[in-house]
Amino acid sequence: MNYSSIFSSIYSQIDHLSNRGELATYIPELGNVSPNKFGVSLLSISGEEYSFGDFDERFSIQSIAKVLALVLAYASENEKLWKRVGVEPSGTAFNSLVQLEYDMGIPRNPFINAGAIVISDILISQLKNPKADFIAFVRSLSGNNSIDYCERIAKSEKNSGYRNAALVNLMKSFGNIENEVNVVLDFYFNLCSIQMSCSELTQTFLFLANKGINPNNNERILSLSKTKRVNAVMQLCGFYDEAGEFSFKVGLPGKSGVGGGIIAILPNQYCIGVWSPKLNRKGNSYKGMKFLELFTTKTETSIF
Ligand code: GLN
Repeated sequence: MNYSSIFSSIYSQIDHLSNRGELATYIPELGNVSPNKFGVSLLSISGEEYSFGDFDERFSIQSIAKVLALVLAYASENEKLWKRVGVEPSGTAFNSLVQLEYDMGIPRNPFINAGAIVISDILISQLKNPKADFIAFVRSLSGNNSIDYCERIAKSEKNSGYRNAALVNLMKSFGNIENEVNVVLDFYFNLCSIQMSCSELTQTFLFLANKGINPNNNERILSLSKTKRVNAVMQLCGFYDEAGEFSFKVGLPGKSGVGGGIIAILPNQYCIGVWSPKLNRKGNSYKGMKFLELFTTKTETSIF
């Protein structure tokens, strides 16, 4: 399929839309990004790559990194991981505190902030040098040693991350955080600060479309069963309280971040990454979602 011409024709359609939404200025550094950036990249499991626009420019992947944290923790923690975090859609905002008290400090899923903070705590207990080991894992997935945390963004979030501090403290009070709260927050803010381009994102996440095997070097990252489960959690929880809307309109498992990025996966076929920094009210990329909706409609692809 000629995805390049599909990309440009869809872009010309959404370019006419007023670029609604807002930058994620609650993390001050994310407010400095140029709002009209737009990039998209698709990588097929057979290695064909199609890209458009600002696909080569790095941005803050934010919550997209939560998937990589889950993958690394799940690979060694196995099913006991699910005692500390659930697999249910939250139906609430990514940074919400409300359910956490009712649920006795067990987050609904690993992709809301509370869940990713628990996964961060698990990784800190598992890894010898948590930050270094984690970025080494991301680099090996992407095949790119220059991928890194962004100190500026991590610091900016640390200085304004009061809600995440509230979440980790609440969970600690329920006994669902083992390590010191500041250590957990530092890991979590660094995790969210990782920068990648659309094309690097597709390299990194392609194994989830390929039964858990990195097609670049044939290395198994996750078992087939765990891969299906991670994709299932993305399908149900990857877009917070807009997961239903994304399933309904796009029909693929995926994950968004407040940097305006989205990755989505069509199992056994491709991984697609899109970036447009302005977010809708649910914290998902406004144009990114529109683009993917038109893309899966035009290419008649869906997991359903
Ligand atoms: N670092 C962001 C936060 O904790 C991640 C949120 C997101 O991308 N949805 O608020």
